[in-house]
Amino acid sequence: MEKSITECLQALFRQCGEDPQRTGLVQTPHRFLQSFQECTQGYGQTAEEVVGGALFPCDNPAPVVIQRIPFFSLCEHHLLPFFGYGTVAYLPSQKVLGVSKVYRLVNLFARRLQLQERLTQQIGEAIQRVAQARGVWVEMRGEHLCVAMRGVQRTDSQMRTFFQSGERIDSSLLGTENSSSENQNHLRVITAELPMKIGCSQEEQRTMTPVQMVLELKIPSSYGTCSDDLAQTVDYDALVQWVYQTIFHKRFQLLEYATQQVHQTIRQFLQDHHRKAAIRVTLIKKLTHPLVQESQFTIGDFA
Ligand code: ZN
Repeated sequence: MEKSITECLQALFRQCGEDPQRTGLVQTPHRFLQSFQECTQGYGQTAEEVVGGALFPCDNPAPVVIQRIPFFSLCEHHLLPFFGYGTVAYLPSQKVLGVSKVYRLVNLFARRLQLQERLTQQIGEAIQRVAQARGVWVEMRGEHLCVAMRGVQRTDSQMRTFFQSGERIDSSLLGTENSSSENQNHLRVITAELPMKIGCSQEEQRTMTPVQMVLELKIPSSYGTCSDDLAQTVDYDALVQWVYQTIFHKRFQLLEYATQQVHQTIRQFLQDHHRKAAIRVTLIKKLTHPLVQESQFTIGDFA
């Protein structure tokens, strides 16, 4: 097994112009295999096994909120890391989880080949099932190296994904300004500031203005983001690139109209890929005006 992986990696090194026998590279396939195994050691164990007996009686029905849980995972499309912090909140019914088990559950699912959407859902469903919680809320914020290092090469974009089920948890406790109140997967993609020709002043017509896109999608919960099937999710990387290619080089006078065009483009993309989702798009235009810093416009299928 290790021998064939070594040969594969050596062929890969040769293909990009390297000498696999170079001193620094000789042991690299072996080291790669070890680190890859470590990054994917979340297979072969269940949430129940991780939690073991660490469920403790508790009469206090108030929500338990654990914030800033770090996670590191590998994107299954590009095998590049994505990482960030998660918030897990649940409403206990008579039993609470040992707090370290929440961290271990996040780790269990993060150390697999993942999509951030599925990771969020798997954590939420596991907490609900294992703790028999009355309600669960999970939010994850991740930076994806496949977006930062390649493709659109944006280093400051962040992806936020949400999971909610059962009884609602008071959003003021969640430390998040946007707690989705819908019983659906709510996904938020925030791009970096992309250059766009937008505006009615002559200055704006001549130069590129940085515009940030905030895309929110409500995905029907019937979507099996919990299955391990690529056909069941949206390729957000491709979606953002598609918007970038079809819209961001065009010239618009009004932010309102540009937002509408982006919205239509995204709807078309989802249709072309046989996906269903309610879409909300916000474009935020940075201004150089001394008194006004930005203007933004939102169009969406949901409020
Ligand atoms: Zn990726």
